[in-house]
Amino acid sequence: MTDFEATRRLFHLPAGVIYLDGNSLGPLPLAAREAARRVLEEEWGEGLIRAWNSAGWIDLPRRVGDRIARLIGAPPGSVTMGDTLSIKVHQALAAALALNPDRRVILSDSGNFPSDLYIAQGLIAALDRGHVLKTPPPEEVEAHIGPDVAVVMLTEVDYRTGRLHDMARITRLAHRAGALTIWDLAHSAGAIPVDVTAAGADFAVGCTYKYLNGGPGAPAFIHVAPHLAERISPALSGWLGHQAPFAFEPEYRPAEGIGRMRVGTPPVIALRILEAALDVWDQVDMAALRARSVMLSERFIAEVEARCPALELASPRDPARRGSQVSFRHPQGYAIMQALIARGVIGDFRAPDVLRFGFTPLYLSPAEVVRAAEILQEIMETDAWDRAEYHRRAAVT
Ligand SMILES: *Cc1c(COP(=O)(O)O)cnc(C)c1O
Repeated sequence: MTDFEATRRLFHLPAGVIYLDGNSLGPLPLAAREAARRVLEEEWGEGLIRAWNSAGWIDLPRRVGDRIARLIGAPPGSVTMGDTLSIKVHQALAAALALNPDRRVILSDSGNFPSDLYIAQGLIAALDRGHVLKTPPPEEVEAHIGPDVAVVMLTEVDYRTGRLHDMARITRLAHRAGALTIWDLAHSAGAIPVDVTAAGADFAVGCTYKYLNGGPGAPAFIHVAPHLAERISPALSGWLGHQAPFAFEPEYRPAEGIGRMRVGTPPVIALRILEAALDVWDQVDMAALRARSVMLSERFIAEVEARCPALELASPRDPARRGSQVSFRHPQGYAIMQALIARGVIGDFRAPDVLRFGFTPLYLSPAEVVRAAEILQEIMETDAWDRAEYHRRAAVT
């Protein structure tokens, strides 16, 4: 069993805040602060360039990748770290298209995160080989899996609504049709149990600053199924994905396995912080986490629906079809969210009208969920959201 009061004590949580946005940026783990001090003062400060060897910096992408692998059901040595998720999407997509060269369709869905779609559009233009990106509604993806599809590229949990795709089922259908799969786990890793091996996923990518609490701009991960890793010619063929970087050869030769998905110098400071942030997962049972996430989100939905009839549930009602977030629609969603944040209840807003709330059992209690709904009720009943300052759009929503 997981002790969620013990996991809560591992985080710095600002006083007076109910944090329902850990799905967008996880809070600061106390261990990360100490790791940051150590990497700056001891490793960098004292070790200087020697630390690439003495502190093991050069192997951090693989070592931290192995920690992520455990959370997504991937075997050791099949995940590496670095860059941003958008870059990892590019690498996975370029590799998948090259593995399936006679097909032209990239199948995604209309709910996918824009960056994933933009990356596909950019890659299509760069390749200039007549690829097309199809984005049917999420419910219709299966009907579009056919003999022209090179790759099915989906985000398992919809960033806006929390709707959950059936990774194993869609992967099976894709494989039966001769297509590869890329699963974006941005809102899955650390949020729900994930098993890329059981699902048969070909590629999986994700970020680590959301439910994995790695901090703003924390490096992304990429997993390639071991049977494919040796067959990939990396599109981003950087020196640290070379078989012998310090031979400084003029010709690129890919490193073994997942190592070829590395590109350039790893973000050492961010990896050290992330490594420390991942310690909490050693004491978490994912089934217990999921059960508590469902309990928290069900409670929130019930409280909000009872208290705030003007808000319309935008997430699937069945918790088995949701990730670890809940969204409501309201035409004044932006202003309502600003009024909530001003009262210490932090969620976020996604255009055009979605109020989004993340449920993170590592540090969130049922009492906070009820209190958040009470504050939302007060805002709705008094129209407290209708002030000029709450209508002014900030750069980041
Ligand atoms: C958060 C998120 C991203 C963000 O990509 P970055 O390159 O890390 O900024 C991309 N895709 C999905 C599905 C996301 O949820």
